[in-house]
Amino acid sequence: PTGEPPEPLHRVVGNNYAPDNPQSNRINATLLSLVRNEELNDMLQSMRDLERTWNHKFNYPWTFLNDVPFTEEFKTKIRAATKADVRFDVVPRAHWDVPSWINNDLYRESTALLKEQEVQYSDKISYHQMCRWNSGLFYHHPALANYRYYWRVEPKVHFFCAVDYDVFRYMQDHNKTYGFTINLDATRRPEHNMKANGYSTCHFWSNFEIADMEFWRSRPYEEYFKHLDRAGGFFYERWGDAPVHSIALGLFEDKDKIHWFRDIGYQHIPFFNCPNSPKCKGCVTGRFTDGEAWLNKEDCRPNWFKFVG
Ligand code: GDP
Ligand code: MN
Repeated sequence: PTGEPPEPLHRVVGNNYAPDNPQSNRINATLLSLVRNEELNDMLQSMRDLERTWNHKFNYPWTFLNDVPFTEEFKTKIRAATKADVRFDVVPRAHWDVPSWINNDLYRESTALLKEQEVQYSDKISYHQMCRWNSGLFYHHPALANYRYYWRVEPKVHFFCAVDYDVFRYMQDHNKTYGFTINLDATRRPEHNMKANGYSTCHFWSNFEIADMEFWRSRPYEEYFKHLDRAGGFFYERWGDAPVHSIALGLFEDKDKIHWFRDIGYQHIPFFNCPNSPKCKGCVTGRFTDGEAWLNKEDCRPNWFKFVG
């Protein structure tokens, strides 16, 4: 019941995953973090958890990206936290800067309204830039050009369970496009559902994602993103990359290509995915949140199970 796939193929075989082994069984994949210099300690914490539970067995390379150059301290401390290859790079300005068609006055007026509605981070321009970048630009970063799969890792998250198979190879062998641990229903109030025009608001929580970039690099996705980008909602609203990714998966991808990693114990405040398994330590089995009780209503996994049968 851990949900772990039984195939021995995905397990550690001999020395095949040694960091410097050119014949390693690793597939074309990287761990990926967009992160700020100030988040060094939180990043180290996420990294230690993921290295301890999984990556020390597989040594997948890490890619760290930032809108400004990483400090020497950041690079030194991060390199010391893994045996695997690490690359640091800066996001090209053309991918990060507010696009020319965004009207600054309109941005300020609209975000002032959003702030009144207590939309989190709505008045922080870098948050809008980050959501836009994660929606439609990260996979064009030159450092990722030769990669197909990535695992997104944010600072300050936790991983709880020993995972003994190569999850990237699992994605590839089973022809999966997208893997998630948590999905959320942002708003259960009827007036919001109406504003969403029938969209349930269920979305895969994208601070964790293991995915195939061929999907984002495909023509339908690119055109969809371009359309959203031109519409301006990354700035005039606070469109997030989670619903943007999720709606695209709903529109353009087969549900069989989406995988719930029930066996990867995970926390990003305030939510958990905590399996019932002796392999997991440090989280409470089945707990969805350690925040206020009403947050339990945001769990959208039951919807997903119903949908996929
Ligand atoms: P939250 O999870 O929605 O509360 O947002 P976070 O603050 O965790 O941001 C999401 C991700 O984007 C994290 O990996 C952050 O480190 C990263 N991030 C957010 N804003 C910036 C930014 O301005 N610059 C950089 N380099 N990373 C950012
Ligand atoms: Mn976060």
